[in-house]
Amino acid sequence: MATLESKVSAVVGDRTAKVLNSVLGVTTLGDLMRHYPRRYMVRGELSDISELREGDETTIVAQIYSTTNRPLRGRKGSILEVVVTDGTDKLSLTFFNQAWREKDLKVGRQGLFAGKVGVFNNKKQLAHPDYELIPDGSDVDSAVEGFAGKFLPVYPASSKLPSWKISQCAQLAIGALDEIDDFLPDSIREKHNYPTLHQALVQLHQPADLDHAETARERLTFDEAFLLQSLLVMRRNELKKLNSTSRKKITGGLLDTFDKSLPFELTAGQVAVCKEIEGDLAQPHPMHRLLQGEVGSGKTIVALRAMLAVVDSGGQAALLAPTEVLAAQHLRTIQGQLGALAQGGMLGGSEKGTQVTLITGSQSAQARKEAVAKAADGTAGIVTGTHALLGESVVFKDLGLIVVDEQHRFGVEQRDALKEKAVLPPHLLVMTATPIPRTVAMTVFGDLDVSTLRELPLGRQPITTHVIPVKEKPNYLERAWTRIREEVSQGHQAYIVAPRICADPDAGADADLDFLFGEESDEISSVEELAPMLHSGPLQGLKIAILHGRLPAEQKEATMQAFSRGEIDVLVSTTVIEVGVDVPNATIMVIMDADRFGVSQLHQLRGRVGRGTSPGLCLLVSHCEDLTPARERLNAVAATLDGFELSRIDLEQRREGDVLGRNQSGTQSHLRLLRVLRDESLIEQARDDAEQLIAQDNNLSHYPALRKELARLQRDQAVDYLDKG
Ligand code: ADP
Ligand code: MG
Repeated sequence: MATLESKVSAVVGDRTAKVLNSVLGVTTLGDLMRHYPRRYMVRGELSDISELREGDETTIVAQIYSTTNRPLRGRKGSILEVVVTDGTDKLSLTFFNQAWREKDLKVGRQGLFAGKVGVFNNKKQLAHPDYELIPDGSDVDSAVEGFAGKFLPVYPASSKLPSWKISQCAQLAIGALDEIDDFLPDSIREKHNYPTLHQALVQLHQPADLDHAETARERLTFDEAFLLQSLLVMRRNELKKLNSTSRKKITGGLLDTFDKSLPFELTAGQVAVCKEIEGDLAQPHPMHRLLQGEVGSGKTIVALRAMLAVVDSGGQAALLAPTEVLAAQHLRTIQGQLGALAQGGMLGGSEKGTQVTLITGSQSAQARKEAVAKAADGTAGIVTGTHALLGESVVFKDLGLIVVDEQHRFGVEQRDALKEKAVLPPHLLVMTATPIPRTVAMTVFGDLDVSTLRELPLGRQPITTHVIPVKEKPNYLERAWTRIREEVSQGHQAYIVAPRICADPDAGADADLDFLFGEESDEISSVEELAPMLHSGPLQGLKIAILHGRLPAEQKEATMQAFSRGEIDVLVSTTVIEVGVDVPNATIMVIMDADRFGVSQLHQLRGRVGRGTSPGLCLLVSHCEDLTPARERLNAVAATLDGFELSRIDLEQRREGDVLGRNQSGTQSHLRLLRVLRDESLIEQARDDAEQLIAQDNNLSHYPALRKELARLQRDQAVDYLDKG
């Protein structure tokens, strides 16, 4: 008898095992059992083509009548049309860019075809149907009669390894398997009324009916969430056991002095989060905290307070930013907010003070040398910078805290590279610019504790957002330029954002979005065309400057500084200003071709205005027509200021891999069924169950099967991680 670890070859034979391995990467029975069916064809519900109605989910038996493959008109790609008949009527099956199927779908062959009936040009069709061809030479009636059960599973398959062949192998495997050791603790399984692992696998591959298949699938989906959460909870517990230097708050230090000089009151949310962080830092174990918050909610000040507490206790803090613009801005803001406190050891500086320095890739050799020296001898209590901070030449005297700003652009590897620079594991504070739904945070950052800032500082004026539909209301665009002139005449400043740097699309946008929106790129606005056009046209007389990712670092920095000082009225820019840029005097933003940006990105962008005490206005210019999905997205952005809601809308439109982020490859390959947004309550439940179980038995000594499964998962993740790295 066999276990999940047994080789498939022992059950299906060497030849088939070889194909299973080369096509699906399957080597063990466990691998095969985890190759789940995508859907089921239902034998009892075979229909006649003549009776099909639009919207039906159907399975038919039919014969291939004709096939044609032709290029699409005006677009890249091809369409394969296969017409089938069952004697009652004809039906067309369409496949985009899958010309290779022509090989299988030969005229005269018979098969089962399943999908949802659509209508195109008044003809009934199935787009991308699942199908199962009846092997040449076999008798159709007996082939159809010969379904193993009532429900024929349809597997992700290929011409080398058709679905029926996989199904056959799965049957053989089920027949050979011994009772499987279930890693899910009985108490948890019973609580949810789930089948055992063995039952679930059998029901998924050979369902008695669709309800059983559904329950099996739910149990297996829960497994994925539960294993992942268990791993994350255990990892978090491990991290908490590491030793670190406790950074207790002292009275009368830098932090106290700073607090007294603050020109505003912290919001209640900021106070609460600062308390949590203070508590973490006081522990002799490293903090691992995620700070997520609404755009403009004041995350920076929370991070700065943590950094000052660490400096007070004799340590240093590193602040890692994703771009040079942002790193330089952090330096400026922190120096500005600290005033004399940032001039420790310098003439006129405070005796309590420290120094703040900047390390980036493009600074001059001299500047870098000075900054590196200050980090090494501890003169600089706070070191801001980009990836350059991770370089080998950068050492710290006593690195006590790492703050990572705008986390989604940094990988775990980079966090680790920085941690290496500390004597003991440092405290870690990760800030995300884009709020993310709770379950995504739990899945991606599950080893971190999460703090959330939802409210904006008092007195903050809301940002008003309008869509400017250029096609329907061309004169509204004129009105937008007039609004900019009005704001500038009141002493305010404006941003104009364009998707591209220059007219030639291949020469680059800072963000490559074309893949999302296909080819219909009529006229996309670019910074380099827009600026002179506005300068000699509607914004004549205003001081206009441009900013984009391909300008030299000094020029970017000089422009940002001039804009902060109010010497520039209008900044025409790409999304380099998307994250973090903070110029409270800017009150209006016009986003050209706004439909080219993602929902969260637009929310981030508009967060650049209305940061002061005057209301902000954001105008989303679009050529898209009313009622198109692109316009709906813009309407959604205009309708709410809730970043959490918008990030949800954004994530729902992405593929799962992109939801979890590029650096989660290890996690992803184990999530076959789980979808973080759809399976929200399942994930919450799994998290609670994992927390409870591990709280009772923190190394799971009573659950050897679970321990083994987790070890396996961890090993595979490490392999994936090395592969990708
Ligand atoms: P974000 O969370 O988007 O990074 P920032 O930290 O950049 O936001 O803060 C946005 C602006 O709000 C900054 O100009 C900051 O100085 C200001 N700010 C932060 N906290 C408060 C507060 N409690 N009251 C008033 N203004 C605040
Ligand atoms: Mg910020």
